[in-house]
Amino acid sequence: MKKVIVIGGGFGGLAEAIRLQARGYAVTILEKRDQVGGRAYQLKKNGYTFDMGPSLITAPDIIESVFLAAGKKSADYIEVEKLDPFYRIYFHDGAYMDYTGDSEKMKAEMAKFSTADANNYDAFMKAVKPIYDAVITEGLGSTMFADWSGFMKFVPRALKLGGLTPVYKFASKYFSHEYNRFAFSFHPLFIGGSPFRAPSIYIMIPYLEKNGGVWYAKGGMYSLVKAFLQVFTELGGIVRTNSDVTNIQVTNGRATGVFIGSEFHSADAVVCNSDVPFTYLNLIDEKNRKKWTDKRVKRLHMTMSCYLLYIGTNKQFPELKHHTLILSERYKELVKDIFDRKVLPEDFSIYLHVPTRSDSTMAPPGCESMYLLVPVPHLGADVDWKKMGPVFLEKILNFLEKDFGMKGLRDSIEVLEQFTPLDFESELSSYMGSAFAIEPRLSQSALFRPHNRDQDIERLYFVGAGTHPGGGVPGVLLSAEATEKCVVEDLGSAV
Ligand SMILES: Cc1cc2nc3c(=O)[nH]c(=O)nc-3n(C[C@H](O)[C@H](O)[C@H](O)COP(=O)(O)OP(=O)(O)OC[C@H]3O[C@@H](n4cnc5c(N)ncnc54)[C@H](O)[C@@H]3O)c2cc1C
Repeated sequence: MKKVIVIGGGFGGLAEAIRLQARGYAVTILEKRDQVGGRAYQLKKNGYTFDMGPSLITAPDIIESVFLAAGKKSADYIEVEKLDPFYRIYFHDGAYMDYTGDSEKMKAEMAKFSTADANNYDAFMKAVKPIYDAVITEGLGSTMFADWSGFMKFVPRALKLGGLTPVYKFASKYFSHEYNRFAFSFHPLFIGGSPFRAPSIYIMIPYLEKNGGVWYAKGGMYSLVKAFLQVFTELGGIVRTNSDVTNIQVTNGRATGVFIGSEFHSADAVVCNSDVPFTYLNLIDEKNRKKWTDKRVKRLHMTMSCYLLYIGTNKQFPELKHHTLILSERYKELVKDIFDRKVLPEDFSIYLHVPTRSDSTMAPPGCESMYLLVPVPHLGADVDWKKMGPVFLEKILNFLEKDFGMKGLRDSIEVLEQFTPLDFESELSSYMGSAFAIEPRLSQSALFRPHNRDQDIERLYFVGAGTHPGGGVPGVLLSAEATEKCVVEDLGSAV
């Protein structure tokens, strides 16, 4: 059987491994950490369970397609529950919006700020649907843009649909109140993109959420990681954890295997789920790379990073929804500070995930498991996180307890862990400590994003957030499909 090595067991690596193993190739995942999951790692401490990264399950059809590729059904592996509202958004003045996929309820929420905006909701969704259709239904997201001819066919259509306009600008054509504009433009931030720069291809996310719902998996997102892992091993795939790949062997322009230190593993194809810039800069000798030279790799714009807190409290805060956004007064300027000026701003916006709202198994009885995400600049900023971590922590806890009104928060804390941009760099080998890999901006999308099939080295592929179509669990799972097509095209039969 032809052997495929997948470097990294994030969602991208797991989905790719399932797809290729199901086709009969002999697939081995080599994962540097002691567990698979990557950004979707799990932390368990003192009876509390935390998803460390992704928390919102969207696009269930895309998830199902991975199970289907293996001849399985997700319902046999995970139990999911639809959330309504999807999230509550608190604005700086205390006003809030319960963001939902139900059109009438959503319009009522929007009308709190502008009835004209509420009246435009249907028109907005109608304009976004063809973008969703192009990317998801017609499969642009799950097929690699190999050359200019394919890309140029897409451009006139994308232009006509407004898909190249920045997301915030697109939303502003339909909505005039800043709160409504925020609600329909912030989604690129979920995958590390600036709403003021990311092309409106990403504005399909509200449609994707409305169409497919926002879900929670019992036991957290890690249940999906475990389900994928189980499917892969049931198919006969091999997983080796604590296996940090240190080099990709290239012989006569072809990837022939990988090294873990001095230990060599041969392969007919190597698929990298490891971070793309990290892989080019550290695992592949530059003499084998004409397109992706060190200089070019270093010019890539990486997404912002995140400051994450995992908090277990011995009391509950029922005022919090399962997903809550708490916003600073500033939107555009805050994004600019983080993305462009690369400074750690005085103010912050917070995403708060409280799975115990839907799932009591995530904490001891009567307790709360929550995680907080604050977007911060990546390591290109002049911030010493060893010093700033504790300072930032104090600031956030003060804000939540005193300004936001989570009374007794500090006194109730039983577990407190943080994950800073330095951890993204060291734990996940993420270039510049970026949280979401290569930034989704026009000049780094589709044909301009690192390709699923390497452009210089034969039998070398990429899967995950850094390649086409991009980050977020649905994007990463689509990338597995795009990469699968390339591998199968090149390797042919499995024996
Ligand atoms: C805080 C946070 C919240 C998020 N929330 C959501 C959400 O709610 N919904 C959503 O859809 N998306 C969300 N995302 C995005 C989503 O989590 C990611 O896009 C996705 O999980 C990335 O998967 P991946 O397979 O590309 O990479 P990763 O998950 O990073 O996996 C890469 C793997 O490769 C391993 N690796 C790296 N180098 C080596 C090496 N040399 N040898 C062996 N192994 C190696 C790493 O250890 C890692 O396990 C979130 C991301 C973050 C950071």
